Amino acid sequence: MTSKIKKCAKCGEYTLKDVCVRCGERTHNPLPPRFSPADRYGKYRRMIKYGRA
Ligand SMILES: [Zn+2]
Repeated sequence: MTSKIKKCAKCGEYTLKDVCVRCGERTHNPLPPRFSPADRYGKYRRMIKYGRA
């Protein structure tokens, strides 16, 4: 699965272009390939669960 969506780090605009359509800043892939929201929240759940013993 490949996504060509990119995000401007400056203003947060999402675009398919290499430069932001809003401010002209260079865009980049918003998410690293291994990014997983489920894992991230799982990590926080574990921190909460075990962190307050
Ligand atoms: Zn921008």
